[in-house]
Amino acid sequence: MSIIFNFLKRYILIIVIAFSLGAFAGYKTLESLGMQALINAIPIPEGSIADKDMFLETLPEGKALTQKELVPVNNKAKNIILLIGDGMSISQISSYRLLKGGPNERLSVDKFPISGIVLTHSENAIVTDSASSATAYSTGRKTNNGALGLDKDNKILENLTERIHEYGYVSSLISTSEITHATPAAFASHVDLRWKTDEISKDMMESNVMTILGGGRHFFLPEEMGGKRDDGLDLLQEVKSKHTLLTQKRELSGFALDNRDKVIGLFADEHLRDIEKPDNHSFEPTSSEMLDFAINRSLKFQEEGCKGFFIMVEGSQVDWAGHANNINYLKREMQDFDEAVQNALDYAIQSQDTLVIVTADHETGGLLIEPAAPADYTAPEVKFSFNTGIGYGSHTGVPVPVYAYGPGSENFTGTLDNTDVYYAMVEALELDKQTGSCVD
Ligand SMILES: [Zn+2]
Repeated sequence: MSIIFNFLKRYILIIVIAFSLGAFAGYKTLESLGMQALINAIPIPEGSIADKDMFLETLPEGKALTQKELVPVNNKAKNIILLIGDGMSISQISSYRLLKGGPNERLSVDKFPISGIVLTHSENAIVTDSASSATAYSTGRKTNNGALGLDKDNKILENLTERIHEYGYVSSLISTSEITHATPAAFASHVDLRWKTDEISKDMMESNVMTILGGGRHFFLPEEMGGKRDDGLDLLQEVKSKHTLLTQKRELSGFALDNRDKVIGLFADEHLRDIEKPDNHSFEPTSSEMLDFAINRSLKFQEEGCKGFFIMVEGSQVDWAGHANNINYLKREMQDFDEAVQNALDYAIQSQDTLVIVTADHETGGLLIEPAAPADYTAPEVKFSFNTGIGYGSHTGVPVPVYAYGPGSENFTGTLDNTDVYYAMVEALELDKQTGSCVD
Protein backbone atom coordinates (compact mmCIF):
# COMPACT_ATOMS: atom_id res chain seq x y z
CA MET A 1 0.00 0.00 0.00
CA SER A 2 2.72 2.45 0.99
CA ILE A 3 4.59 1.59 -2.25
CA ILE A 4 1.57 2.67 -4.34
CA PHE A 5 1.17 5.80 -2.22
CA ASN A 6 4.83 6.76 -2.72
CA PHE A 7 4.50 6.10 -6.46
CA LEU A 8 1.43 8.36 -6.76
CA LYS A 9 3.06 11.01 -4.57
CA ARG A 10 5.98 11.18 -7.00
CA TYR A 11 3.59 11.62 -9.95
CA ILE A 12 1.58 14.29 -8.16
CA LEU A 13 4.81 16.13 -7.31
CA ILE A 14 5.92 16.05 -10.98
CA ILE A 15 2.51 17.32 -12.12
CA VAL A 16 2.43 20.12 -9.53
CA ILE A 17 5.95 21.24 -10.52
CA ALA A 18 5.01 21.09 -14.22
CA PHE A 19 1.85 23.15 -13.73
CA SER A 20 3.76 25.68 -11.65
CA LEU A 21 5.87 26.27 -14.79
CA GLY A 22 2.69 27.10 -16.72
CA ALA A 23 -0.40 25.47 -18.18
CA PHE A 24 1.44 24.26 -21.27
CA ALA A 25 4.13 22.42 -19.25
CA GLY A 26 1.39 20.92 -17.09
CA TYR A 27 -0.62 19.66 -20.03
CA LYS A 28 2.50 18.25 -21.71
CA THR A 29 3.45 16.39 -18.50
CA LEU A 30 -0.03 14.89 -18.10
CA GLU A 31 0.05 13.91 -21.76
CA SER A 32 3.46 12.22 -21.44
CA LEU A 33 2.19 10.34 -18.39
CA GLY A 34 -0.73 9.02 -20.46
CA MET A 35 -3.26 11.00 -18.45
CA GLN A 36 -5.20 12.36 -21.45
CA ALA A 37 -8.55 11.83 -19.72
CA LEU A 38 -7.42 14.11 -16.91
CA ILE A 39 -6.46 16.84 -19.42
CA ASN A 40 -9.86 16.64 -21.07
CA ALA A 41 -11.54 16.98 -17.67
CA ILE A 42 -9.79 20.30 -16.94
CA PRO A 43 -12.22 23.08 -17.94
CA ILE A 44 -11.02 25.69 -20.44
CA PRO A 45 -10.89 28.97 -18.53
CA GLU A 46 -13.69 31.41 -19.34
CA GLY A 47 -12.54 34.77 -20.61
CA SER A 48 -12.09 37.15 -23.45
CA ILE A 49 -9.37 37.50 -26.03
CA ALA A 50 -7.66 39.97 -23.66
CA ASP A 51 -6.73 37.06 -21.39
CA LYS A 52 -4.35 35.62 -23.96
CA ASP A 53 -0.62 36.03 -23.73
CA MET A 54 0.19 39.18 -25.64
CA PHE A 55 3.31 41.19 -26.26
CA LEU A 56 3.24 44.79 -27.39
CA GLU A 57 6.60 45.38 -29.02
CA THR A 58 8.07 48.43 -30.69
CA LEU A 59 9.67 47.32 -33.93
CA PRO A 60 13.18 48.29 -35.03
CA GLU A 61 13.54 51.32 -37.31
CA GLY A 62 12.14 50.36 -40.72
CA LYS A 63 14.54 49.68 -43.57
CA ALA A 64 13.93 50.96 -47.09
CA LEU A 65 11.98 48.56 -49.30
CA THR A 66 14.02 46.84 -51.97
CA GLN A 67 12.36 45.42 -55.04
CA LYS A 68 12.88 41.72 -55.58
CA GLU A 69 15.17 40.86 -58.47
CA LEU A 70 13.02 39.17 -61.08
CA VAL A 71 13.97 36.51 -63.59
CA PRO A 72 13.60 37.81 -67.17
CA VAL A 73 10.57 36.14 -68.74
CA ASN A 74 11.27 35.03 -72.32
CA ASN A 75 8.06 33.14 -73.02
CA LYS A 76 5.63 35.99 -72.40
CA ALA A 77 2.01 35.61 -71.28
CA LYS A 78 -0.75 36.84 -73.54
CA ASN A 79 -3.24 37.17 -70.69
CA ILE A 80 -3.31 37.43 -66.90
CA ILE A 81 -6.04 36.26 -64.55
CA LEU A 82 -5.37 37.51 -61.01
CA LEU A 83 -7.56 36.01 -58.29
CA ILE A 84 -7.48 37.69 -54.87
CA GLY A 85 -9.07 35.93 -51.91
CA ASP A 86 -9.63 38.87 -49.59
CA GLY A 87 -8.49 37.90 -46.08
CA MET A 88 -7.35 34.46 -47.30
CA SER A 89 -4.10 33.16 -45.90
CA ILE A 90 -2.90 29.60 -45.36
CA SER A 91 -5.28 29.00 -42.45
CA GLN A 92 -8.40 29.94 -44.46
CA ILE A 93 -7.27 27.68 -47.33
CA SER A 94 -6.40 24.86 -44.92
CA SER A 95 -9.71 25.18 -43.07
CA TYR A 96 -11.66 24.94 -46.30
CA ARG A 97 -9.57 21.94 -47.40
CA LEU A 98 -10.41 20.14 -44.12
CA LEU A 99 -14.10 21.10 -44.17
CA LYS A 100 -14.53 20.13 -47.81
CA GLY A 101 -13.00 16.69 -47.71
CA GLY A 102 -10.60 16.15 -44.81
CA PRO A 103 -6.80 16.49 -44.71
CA ASN A 104 -6.17 14.61 -47.96
CA GLU A 105 -8.61 16.71 -49.97
CA ARG A 106 -6.95 18.86 -52.61
CA LEU A 107 -8.24 22.29 -53.63
CA SER A 108 -7.66 24.06 -56.91
CA VAL A 109 -4.72 26.03 -55.47
CA ASP A 110 -3.07 22.75 -54.45
CA LYS A 111 -2.71 21.90 -58.15
CA PHE A 112 -0.57 24.96 -58.96
CA PRO A 113 3.08 24.09 -59.69
CA ILE A 114 4.53 27.33 -58.29
CA SER A 115 3.92 28.98 -54.96
CA GLY A 116 5.48 31.64 -52.78
CA ILE A 117 4.94 33.93 -49.82
CA VAL A 118 3.75 37.54 -50.00
CA LEU A 119 4.48 40.17 -47.33
CA THR A 120 1.51 42.48 -46.97
CA HIS A 121 2.44 45.52 -44.81
CA SER A 122 1.43 48.95 -46.09
CA GLU A 123 3.23 52.30 -46.17
CA ASN A 124 1.99 53.24 -42.69
CA ALA A 125 0.95 49.96 -41.05
CA ILE A 126 2.21 46.45 -40.36
CA VAL A 127 -1.40 45.32 -40.67
CA THR A 128 -2.72 46.47 -44.03
CA ASP A 129 -6.25 47.00 -45.25
CA SER A 130 -7.55 45.93 -48.64
CA ALA A 131 -7.17 49.38 -50.21
CA SER A 132 -3.44 49.74 -49.68
CA SER A 133 -2.73 46.09 -50.42
CA ALA A 134 -4.74 46.14 -53.67
CA THR A 135 -2.96 49.39 -54.60
CA ALA A 136 0.36 47.55 -54.17
CA TYR A 137 -0.89 44.88 -56.60
CA SER A 138 -2.34 47.40 -59.05
CA THR A 139 0.52 49.94 -59.04
CA GLY A 140 3.64 48.36 -57.52
CA ARG A 141 3.75 51.04 -54.82
CA LYS A 142 3.09 51.03 -51.10
CA THR A 143 0.51 53.47 -49.86
CA ASN A 144 -1.29 54.31 -46.62
CA ASN A 145 -4.17 52.18 -45.38
CA GLY A 146 -7.41 53.35 -46.94
CA ALA A 147 -5.89 54.92 -50.08
CA LEU A 148 -6.75 53.75 -53.60
CA GLY A 149 -4.39 54.32 -56.53
CA LEU A 150 -2.65 57.23 -54.77
CA ASP A 151 0.71 57.32 -53.00
CA LYS A 152 1.19 58.49 -49.41
CA ASP A 153 1.30 62.11 -50.61
CA ASN A 154 -1.95 61.67 -52.59
CA LYS A 155 -0.11 61.65 -55.91
CA ILE A 156 -1.89 59.64 -58.60
CA LEU A 157 -0.25 56.30 -59.39
CA GLU A 158 -0.85 54.79 -62.81
CA ASN A 159 -2.52 51.44 -62.26
CA LEU A 160 -2.07 48.21 -64.22
CA THR A 161 -5.33 48.51 -66.20
CA GLU A 162 -4.34 52.04 -67.29
CA ARG A 163 -0.80 51.01 -68.16
CA ILE A 164 -1.65 47.95 -70.23
CA HIS A 165 -4.56 49.74 -71.96
CA GLU A 166 -1.94 51.76 -73.84
CA TYR A 167 -0.40 48.51 -75.07
CA GLY A 168 -3.63 47.11 -76.47
CA TYR A 169 -4.89 44.97 -73.59
CA VAL A 170 -8.51 44.82 -72.39
CA SER A 171 -9.33 44.60 -68.65
CA SER A 172 -12.13 43.21 -66.48
CA LEU A 173 -12.86 43.46 -62.75
CA ILE A 174 -15.02 41.00 -60.81
CA SER A 175 -16.01 40.97 -57.13
CA THR A 176 -18.59 39.37 -54.88
CA SER A 177 -18.91 42.57 -52.83
CA GLU A 178 -20.20 45.82 -54.25
CA ILE A 179 -17.83 46.64 -57.09
CA THR A 180 -16.98 49.96 -55.44
CA HIS A 181 -15.28 48.02 -52.64
CA ALA A 182 -11.56 48.51 -52.00
CA THR A 183 -9.97 45.70 -54.02
CA PRO A 184 -11.66 46.28 -57.40
CA ALA A 185 -11.57 50.04 -56.75
CA ALA A 186 -7.75 50.00 -56.53
CA PHE A 187 -7.64 48.79 -60.16
CA ALA A 188 -9.96 51.51 -61.51
CA SER A 189 -9.92 54.61 -59.30
CA HIS A 190 -7.73 57.18 -57.57
CA VAL A 191 -9.36 58.22 -54.30
CA ASP A 192 -7.74 59.10 -50.98
CA LEU A 193 -10.24 57.18 -48.86
CA ARG A 194 -11.90 53.90 -49.75
CA TRP A 195 -15.15 55.02 -48.08
CA LYS A 196 -15.71 57.70 -50.75
CA THR A 197 -17.78 55.34 -52.87
CA ASP A 198 -19.54 58.20 -54.74
CA GLU A 199 -16.15 59.16 -56.19
CA ILE A 200 -15.05 55.55 -56.75
CA SER A 201 -18.15 54.68 -58.79
CA LYS A 202 -17.63 57.77 -60.97
CA ASP A 203 -13.96 56.83 -61.54
CA MET A 204 -15.04 53.30 -62.45
CA MET A 205 -17.57 54.63 -64.95
CA GLU A 206 -14.83 56.65 -66.62
CA SER A 207 -12.10 54.00 -66.40
CA ASN A 208 -11.03 52.00 -69.43
CA VAL A 209 -11.99 48.71 -67.75
CA MET A 210 -14.49 47.22 -70.21
CA THR A 211 -16.19 44.65 -67.97
CA ILE A 212 -17.05 45.32 -64.32
CA LEU A 213 -19.14 42.68 -62.55
CA GLY A 214 -20.30 42.26 -58.97
CA GLY A 215 -22.82 43.75 -56.57
CA GLY A 216 -23.55 47.35 -55.61
CA ARG A 217 -26.61 48.84 -57.37
CA HIS A 218 -27.25 50.99 -54.29
CA PHE A 219 -23.86 52.66 -54.72
CA PHE A 220 -25.07 53.97 -58.10
CA LEU A 221 -28.38 55.36 -56.76
CA PRO A 222 -29.05 58.43 -54.57
CA GLU A 223 -30.52 58.06 -51.08
CA GLU A 224 -33.82 59.53 -52.28
CA MET A 225 -34.16 56.55 -54.60
CA GLY A 226 -33.29 54.01 -51.92
CA GLY A 227 -29.58 54.02 -52.72
CA LYS A 228 -26.44 54.95 -50.81
CA ARG A 229 -25.16 57.98 -52.73
CA ASP A 230 -24.76 61.25 -50.83
CA ASP A 231 -24.25 63.33 -53.98
CA GLY A 232 -27.83 62.91 -55.29
CA LEU A 233 -26.61 61.48 -58.62
CA ASP A 234 -28.54 58.73 -60.39
CA LEU A 235 -25.48 57.03 -61.81
CA LEU A 236 -27.49 53.93 -62.67
CA GLN A 237 -29.34 55.97 -65.29
CA GLU A 238 -26.00 57.15 -66.61
CA VAL A 239 -24.72 53.57 -66.86
CA LYS A 240 -27.86 52.68 -68.84
CA SER A 241 -27.46 55.57 -71.27
CA LYS A 242 -23.68 55.45 -71.78
CA HIS A 243 -22.82 51.78 -71.26
CA THR A 244 -24.56 48.41 -70.98
CA LEU A 245 -26.06 47.60 -67.58
CA LEU A 246 -26.66 43.99 -66.54
CA THR A 247 -28.65 43.14 -63.41
CA GLN A 248 -29.38 39.40 -63.68
CA LYS A 249 -27.15 36.41 -64.30
CA ARG A 250 -29.21 35.17 -67.27
CA GLU A 251 -28.09 38.32 -69.09
CA LEU A 252 -24.51 37.01 -68.94
CA SER A 253 -25.31 33.93 -71.02
CA GLY A 254 -27.67 35.85 -73.30
CA PHE A 255 -25.19 38.64 -73.99
CA ALA A 256 -24.35 39.42 -77.62
CA LEU A 257 -20.55 39.38 -77.75
CA ASP A 258 -20.41 41.83 -80.64
CA ASN A 259 -21.64 44.49 -78.20
CA ARG A 260 -18.44 46.51 -77.63
CA ASP A 261 -19.88 48.76 -74.89
CA LYS A 262 -18.39 48.96 -71.47
CA VAL A 263 -20.44 46.46 -69.45
CA ILE A 264 -21.32 47.09 -65.81
CA GLY A 265 -23.04 44.17 -64.13
CA LEU A 266 -24.65 45.01 -60.78
CA PHE A 267 -26.39 41.85 -59.65
CA ALA A 268 -27.36 42.87 -56.10
CA ASP A 269 -28.18 46.04 -54.16
CA GLU A 270 -25.01 45.56 -52.12
CA HIS A 271 -22.96 42.33 -51.96
CA LEU A 272 -23.84 39.06 -53.67
CA ARG A 273 -25.46 36.24 -51.65
CA ASP A 274 -26.65 38.72 -48.99
CA ILE A 275 -28.39 36.53 -46.39
CA GLU A 276 -30.91 39.31 -45.79
CA LYS A 277 -31.96 39.26 -49.46
CA PRO A 278 -32.45 35.57 -50.31
CA ASP A 279 -35.03 36.37 -53.03
CA ASN A 280 -32.27 37.91 -55.13
CA HIS A 281 -29.85 34.96 -54.92
CA SER A 282 -31.24 33.11 -57.96
CA PHE A 283 -30.50 36.19 -60.10
CA GLU A 284 -26.86 36.39 -58.97
CA PRO A 285 -23.97 34.72 -60.78
CA THR A 286 -21.15 32.84 -59.07
CA SER A 287 -17.58 34.13 -59.37
CA SER A 288 -16.87 31.35 -61.84
CA GLU A 289 -19.85 32.36 -64.02
CA MET A 290 -18.68 35.99 -64.02
CA LEU A 291 -15.17 34.81 -64.93
CA ASP A 292 -16.58 32.78 -67.85
CA PHE A 293 -18.30 35.89 -69.15
CA ALA A 294 -15.17 38.04 -68.79
CA ILE A 295 -12.98 35.45 -70.57
CA ASN A 296 -15.43 35.03 -73.47
CA ARG A 297 -15.82 38.75 -73.88
CA SER A 298 -12.05 39.31 -73.72
CA LEU A 299 -11.46 36.64 -76.37
CA LYS A 300 -13.94 38.42 -78.63
CA PHE A 301 -12.01 41.67 -78.13
CA GLN A 302 -8.84 39.75 -78.98
CA GLU A 303 -10.38 38.49 -82.21
CA GLU A 304 -11.02 42.11 -83.06
CA GLY A 305 -7.51 43.38 -82.39
CA CYS A 306 -6.73 43.37 -78.67
CA LYS A 307 -3.34 41.92 -77.82
CA GLY A 308 -4.42 40.18 -74.63
CA PHE A 309 -6.51 40.53 -71.49
CA PHE A 310 -6.26 41.15 -67.76
CA ILE A 311 -9.00 39.92 -65.42
CA MET A 312 -9.04 40.46 -61.66
CA VAL A 313 -11.44 38.31 -59.61
CA GLU A 314 -11.93 39.07 -55.93
CA GLY A 315 -13.38 36.61 -53.40
CA SER A 316 -14.45 39.61 -51.34
CA GLN A 317 -16.43 37.95 -48.61
CA VAL A 318 -13.75 35.51 -47.44
CA ASP A 319 -12.61 38.59 -45.51
CA TRP A 320 -16.10 39.32 -44.21
CA ALA A 321 -16.39 35.78 -42.87
CA GLY A 322 -13.14 36.41 -40.97
CA HIS A 323 -14.48 39.68 -39.56
CA ALA A 324 -17.68 37.90 -38.57
CA ASN A 325 -15.72 35.01 -36.97
CA ASN A 326 -17.98 32.66 -38.90
CA ILE A 327 -16.52 29.37 -40.19
CA ASN A 328 -19.67 28.38 -42.17
CA TYR A 329 -19.67 31.73 -43.96
CA LEU A 330 -15.96 31.20 -44.70
CA LYS A 331 -16.67 27.74 -46.13
CA ARG A 332 -19.38 29.09 -48.45
CA GLU A 333 -17.18 31.89 -49.76
CA MET A 334 -14.08 29.71 -50.11
CA GLN A 335 -16.13 27.28 -52.19
CA ASP A 336 -17.19 30.03 -54.59
CA PHE A 337 -13.60 31.29 -54.84
CA ASP A 338 -12.12 27.80 -55.26
CA GLU A 339 -14.46 27.14 -58.21
CA ALA A 340 -13.36 30.35 -59.90
CA VAL A 341 -9.69 29.41 -59.37
CA GLN A 342 -10.32 25.99 -60.93
CA ASN A 343 -12.06 27.65 -63.88
CA ALA A 344 -9.09 30.01 -64.42
CA LEU A 345 -6.61 27.14 -64.13
CA ASP A 346 -8.59 24.98 -66.60
CA TYR A 347 -8.61 27.86 -69.08
CA ALA A 348 -4.86 28.43 -68.69
CA ILE A 349 -4.04 24.72 -69.09
CA GLN A 350 -6.12 24.59 -72.25
CA SER A 351 -4.89 27.89 -73.77
CA GLN A 352 -1.22 27.72 -72.66
CA ASP A 353 -0.89 31.49 -73.05
CA THR A 354 -2.36 32.74 -69.77
CA LEU A 355 -0.68 33.45 -66.45
CA VAL A 356 -2.97 32.68 -63.49
CA ILE A 357 -2.03 34.12 -60.11
CA VAL A 358 -3.92 33.36 -56.89
CA THR A 359 -3.12 35.36 -53.79
CA ALA A 360 -4.67 37.44 -51.00
CA ASP A 361 -4.37 40.96 -49.72
CA HIS A 362 -3.98 40.00 -46.04
CA GLU A 363 -5.22 37.50 -43.48
CA THR A 364 -8.44 38.20 -41.55
CA GLY A 365 -9.50 36.84 -38.19
CA GLY A 366 -6.31 35.20 -36.92
CA LEU A 367 -7.89 31.88 -37.80
CA LEU A 368 -6.35 28.84 -36.08
CA ILE A 369 -6.88 25.12 -36.49
CA GLU A 370 -6.62 23.74 -32.95
CA PRO A 371 -7.20 20.46 -31.16
CA ALA A 372 -10.74 20.08 -29.81
CA ALA A 373 -9.49 20.47 -26.22
CA PRO A 374 -6.07 21.59 -24.98
CA ALA A 375 -3.55 18.93 -25.98
CA ASP A 376 -6.28 16.48 -27.04
CA TYR A 377 -4.83 16.05 -30.49
CA THR A 378 -6.66 12.89 -31.45
CA ALA A 379 -10.27 13.86 -30.70
CA PRO A 380 -12.61 13.44 -33.69
CA GLU A 381 -13.44 17.15 -33.81
CA VAL A 382 -11.15 19.97 -34.85
CA LYS A 383 -11.54 23.43 -33.36
CA PHE A 384 -11.54 26.40 -35.77
CA SER A 385 -10.99 29.54 -33.72
CA PHE A 386 -10.76 33.20 -34.64
CA ASN A 387 -8.21 35.05 -32.56
CA THR A 388 -8.35 38.76 -33.31
CA GLY A 389 -11.48 39.69 -31.37
CA ILE A 390 -14.64 38.11 -30.09
CA GLY A 391 -17.63 39.09 -32.22
CA TYR A 392 -15.75 41.15 -34.75
CA GLY A 393 -12.32 40.18 -36.00
CA SER A 394 -9.65 42.28 -37.62
CA HIS A 395 -6.92 41.80 -40.19
CA THR A 396 -3.55 40.40 -39.16
CA GLY A 397 0.00 41.00 -40.33
CA VAL A 398 0.84 37.40 -41.23
CA PRO A 399 1.99 36.86 -44.83
CA VAL A 400 -0.24 35.30 -47.47
CA PRO A 401 0.51 32.65 -50.08
CA VAL A 402 0.75 33.21 -53.82
CA TYR A 403 0.19 30.47 -56.41
CA ALA A 404 1.01 30.78 -60.10
CA TYR A 405 0.61 28.82 -63.31
CA GLY A 406 1.56 29.64 -66.89
CA PRO A 407 4.05 31.86 -68.73
CA GLY A 408 5.83 34.21 -66.30
CA SER A 409 4.90 32.13 -63.26
CA GLU A 410 8.59 31.55 -62.46
CA ASN A 411 8.77 34.88 -60.63
CA PHE A 412 6.15 33.95 -58.04
CA THR A 413 8.41 31.81 -55.86
CA GLY A 414 10.24 32.53 -52.61
CA THR A 415 9.34 35.61 -50.62
CA LEU A 416 7.78 38.57 -52.43
CA ASP A 417 6.65 41.93 -51.20
CA ASN A 418 3.11 42.69 -52.35
CA THR A 419 4.55 45.41 -54.62
CA ASP A 420 6.75 42.74 -56.31
CA VAL A 421 3.58 40.99 -57.51
CA TYR A 422 2.85 44.01 -59.74
CA TYR A 423 6.35 43.98 -61.27
CA ALA A 424 6.20 40.21 -61.79
CA MET A 425 2.90 40.64 -63.67
CA VAL A 426 4.37 43.43 -65.81
CA GLU A 427 7.45 41.27 -66.51
CA ALA A 428 5.19 38.42 -67.65
CA LEU A 429 3.50 40.56 -70.31
CA GLU A 430 4.94 41.79 -73.58
CA LEU A 431 4.84 45.56 -73.05
CA ASP A 432 7.24 46.53 -75.80
CA LYS A 433 5.30 48.79 -78.13
CA GLN A 434 2.58 51.25 -77.16
CA THR A 435 -0.23 50.63 -79.61
CA GLY A 436 -2.93 52.63 -77.84
CA SER A 437 -6.40 51.41 -76.95
CA CYS A 438 -7.93 48.40 -78.69
CA VAL A 439 -11.43 49.00 -77.42
CA ASP A 440 -12.53 52.50 -78.43
ZN1 LIG B 1 -11.37 43.27 -44.10
